[in-house]
Amino acid sequence: MFDVLVVGGGPVGACLGALLAGGACGGARALSVAVLEPRPPAPLPAHAALEARVVALSRASEHLLRSAGAWRSVAGPRLSAYERMRVWHESVAPDSEAVLVFDAADVGEPNLGYIVENRLLQGALLEAFTQAGGHLEPASLESLEITAAGVGVVTNRGRLATRLVVGADGASSRVRQAAGIAAEVAGYRQTAIIATVATARPHEATAWQRFMRDGTLAFLPLADGTSSIVWSADDELAARLVAASDDAFTAELDRASDRALGATRLRGARVSFPLQRLNAQHYVVPRVALTGDAAHVVHPLAGQGVNLGLADAAALAQLVLAATAAREDPGAFGVLRAYERWRRSEVALMSTAIDAFDRWLAHGSGPVARAAQHGLAWVNRSQELRRFFIRRALGTSGEPPSAARLRGSGEH
Ligand SMILES: Cc1cc2nc3c(=O)[nH]c(=O)nc-3n(C[C@H](O)[C@H](O)[C@H](O)COP(=O)(O)OP(=O)(O)OC[C@H]3O[C@@H](n4cnc5c(N)ncnc54)[C@H](O)[C@@H]3O)c2cc1C
Repeated sequence: MFDVLVVGGGPVGACLGALLAGGACGGARALSVAVLEPRPPAPLPAHAALEARVVALSRASEHLLRSAGAWRSVAGPRLSAYERMRVWHESVAPDSEAVLVFDAADVGEPNLGYIVENRLLQGALLEAFTQAGGHLEPASLESLEITAAGVGVVTNRGRLATRLVVGADGASSRVRQAAGIAAEVAGYRQTAIIATVATARPHEATAWQRFMRDGTLAFLPLADGTSSIVWSADDELAARLVAASDDAFTAELDRASDRALGATRLRGARVSFPLQRLNAQHYVVPRVALTGDAAHVVHPLAGQGVNLGLADAAALAQLVLAATAAREDPGAFGVLRAYERWRRSEVALMSTAIDAFDRWLAHGSGPVARAAQHGLAWVNRSQELRRFFIRRALGTSGEPPSAARLRGSGEH
């Protein structure tokens, strides 16, 4: 019987597995841990072109990856550090004084975070997991048999048993359904289009974000000088953008970006994702916990989905390792409830803030929206407020789990 079986080896499940197998959160004894992942990513060839599917990692997530033993494989020529963010509303020009600028130098940091390919991140964490002695099972979950003593796990390749099951199997989580946990799901009526683009002007290690009445457009700086765009557009506009020829698409992109980085050229295919908000009614039931997108899905405009999920993984790993060090059952409901209390409030705070940005800056009209738009310029004039928001974005304020905070464990 495994101590913990994690269903889903995406970034969140792989990170949880690596932290648990390595006992990284405070030197407790290593547990027997399995990760079920039917589609582990093939390694990225060193000279392969950068992939369009990227995520922005916060400082807290960087610390966590170090604790999990994965940073060494992530840090390299494909990783891009970004030093500042420029955020503005379409009612002002991209070079106006009303543009909100967050600069790492304002808080004495070398950068605000990193842009990394999703596949590289997932591969590095799965590698750290297996190197720490974890068992990677290339199988897919079919059903769960939850009893007071443990959980029977039925997969397409056979049966396994564990004391704790963790759902890290994404937004359509089979674990969530098998455990009978309901979720509130609502569409944003928006679709995110992602693509890699070359721009006439250099990105200057800056993440650029423009709020418009019909969506939000971000340019994330990549290591080879190109940028990854995440364009969250209202469904009607998104359908036109998906159907447009490459030339018509870049013409629309140049209009939507107000040519902040000059003219753009597509460097690969466009990929689109319908956007939804999801919130599981419970994060835990006896012997089962949900993490990452299985528990909550937020709008990508703040680039926080993976960061929230990695923080879930770190919080759960910390509590489970502390319980086993005290010879408690890792699936004990008291341990799981402590995880739920810790993470639910943090996630609710972030998700409410993100939805307020979407409602008032990307879509709002009327006096509240105008106040929010002026708010960007107002925050920009206050160094104290800028520092406050930068620390929140770095993920180093609030109550981060120890693996996201400590520099003293794991690799550095
Ligand atoms: C357009 C877009 C842009 C984004 N940009 C950012 C960003 O910049 N920064 C950021 O932090 N977040 C971003 N996100 C969000 C981020 O991608 C997700 O939050 C993140 O992928 C969630 O990780 P996860 O490991 O929880 O789930 P997933 O990445 O969905 O992984 C789930 C894993 O579970 C496996 N699985 C599924 N079913 C089963 C089963 N039955 N049995 C076993 N395994 C199973 C899957 O194969 C998969 O590997 C973005 C999302 C979108 C849509």
